[in-house]
Amino acid sequence: MPERTCIACKRKSDQGFFWRVARDLEGRVALWKGLGRSAYICPSADCLEKAMGKGRLERALKCPVGEENRRILREELICKLR
Ligand SMILES: [Zn+2]
Repeated sequence: MPERTCIACKRKSDQGFFWRVARDLEGRVALWKGLGRSAYICPSADCLEKAMGKGRLERALKCPVGEENRRILREELICKLR
C-alpha cells in the first residue's frame, strides 16, 4: 500500500486513513474516489482548517480552487467529523 502525506501536517499513512479530495467530473474539488491528482487530509478538525488555508489545496492539486468551492468542501468535511 503506497504511503500518502497529509497536506496540512505532513503525517504519512496509507491512503485509506485520509480524506481524499480531487476534482470531480464537474471540475469541482470535492471528496472524490475517482481518478486524478489528489490531496490527502487527516480526518481531523485541525488538519481540515489548515488544509483550507490559502494555497494549500492549490499547490497539492496544481489547479485553482475558488472560494465557493473551498467553502462547500469545508462544510462537507465538517459534516463528516460529526
Ligand atoms: Zn494531517
